[in-house]
Amino acid sequence: MASDAENHNSKQSYSLKSIGVVHSCFKEKFAIPRQPALAPAARGEIELFPPYDDPLAIEGLEGISHLWLSFIFHQAMPKEDEVRLRVRPPRLGGNKKIGVFATRATHRPNPLGLSVVKLDGIKNGRLQISGIDLLDGTPIVDIKPYVPYADSLPTASNAIAADSPELSQVEFSPEALISAQEHAARLDQPVKELIEQMLAQDPKPAYQKPDPERLYGVKIWDLEVKWRYLQQGCLTIISITLA
Ligand code: SAH
Repeated sequence: MASDAENHNSKQSYSLKSIGVVHSCFKEKFAIPRQPALAPAARGEIELFPPYDDPLAIEGLEGISHLWLSFIFHQAMPKEDEVRLRVRPPRLGGNKKIGVFATRATHRPNPLGLSVVKLDGIKNGRLQISGIDLLDGTPIVDIKPYVPYADSLPTASNAIAADSPELSQVEFSPEALISAQEHAARLDQPVKELIEQMLAQDPKPAYQKPDPERLYGVKIWDLEVKWRYLQQGCLTIISITLA
């Protein structure tokens, strides 16, 4: 007798269409938090594409605080025939391998990401979201409501990522602090909090020793943020300028 798998040809490929795109504070992959809830000040919005840009499609969302986003890691697309059974997750220091299905690594059999984000409201048909770990331009393939009674599991455990990662200290030079305040007012965004929350995660690979001479940089919104490691576990923001 033929198995279900043979009958339905389960091994075939399926294609997905993007239903929208994320406009995000994060303009490059470097320094994006490794999970969504780590940076509540990280904001963005979802622009829905026709025919889903219709108010009918988002009817009822006003009663929902958080969303599951299914998205494409469009800047981590697997190469044709590439097989990676094990990956090096940042949680293990970035130089130890573990099975791909035990991690949230971006390089996976299919470039599908999953993030739970806060829905702050809807403006001009766009979903305002925060606590995001998504790159600007990320294609969205589905949106589902977070369902607390079913999705929040107080007894769940994960030995690899038991607690949230240890935080580094983030300090601002006096000039950088003034720039953060000015750009926050101009952009109407929590610029200082975003920088603190994203860089407290220390984006540098854990095995890399900080070099106090080296200037690191990342783009958020329309800004270029530069910092140095003056001591282990402590980042100093040197400048915040228009990119
Ligand atoms: N919460 C998601 C993503 C975890 S990996 C999940 O569990 O599936 C988080 C990393 O994804 C971030 O550090 C960021 O650099 C990367 N990322 C975010 N959007 C991306 C995109 N569109 N393409 C490639 N990488 C992306």
